[in-house]
Amino acid sequence: MENIEFLIIHSTGTPAGVSVTADSIRRYHLNSLGWSKPGYFALIKLDGSVESVWDFDLKSGLANSEITNGMKWTVKSTPFIKRSIQLCYAGGAEGGLPADTRSKAQKETMLTLIKLITELNPGIRTGGHRDFPDQTTGCPGFDVRNWLLSEGIPSKNIFSKEVYL
Ligand SMILES: [Zn+2]
Repeated sequence: MENIEFLIIHSTGTPAGVSVTADSIRRYHLNSLGWSKPGYFALIKLDGSVESVWDFDLKSGLANSEITNGMKWTVKSTPFIKRSIQLCYAGGAEGGLPADTRSKAQKETMLTLIKLITELNPGIRTGGHRDFPDQTTGCPGFDVRNWLLSEGIPSKNIFSKEVYL
């Protein structure tokens, strides 16, 4: 059982307004991509509601079975992934490019979840997928660090690339 040290924010990479369900994520990741586990533990839907994607217990540490698959595994990224939980929102693309398509409700839910998870794991740092090592992606389509600072999240709870650069 590891401590949860990182919360990684993803998008589904779908255009604004396109509905996504946890079931469609599981089917895509497990059946189409052949992964053993989906990329995220939970999905924030367009209306701001949250759907569980993979079994995860918020209150205890991180069991191996709870580690999800949303980042590219490399020598450099693996230590981060093994101490991470990964959350995504439906959206994140505009005209085929990464974009912040979050609805007001999605932003509110995301912030609430980040605050709750931070309260339960006081040492956690939240970052965007693209901020972690060896990730060649624009996901989640916005600057997580700047957004969290603007929302009053303490910088000690925000992931910074300087950790590994
Ligand atoms: Zn991602």
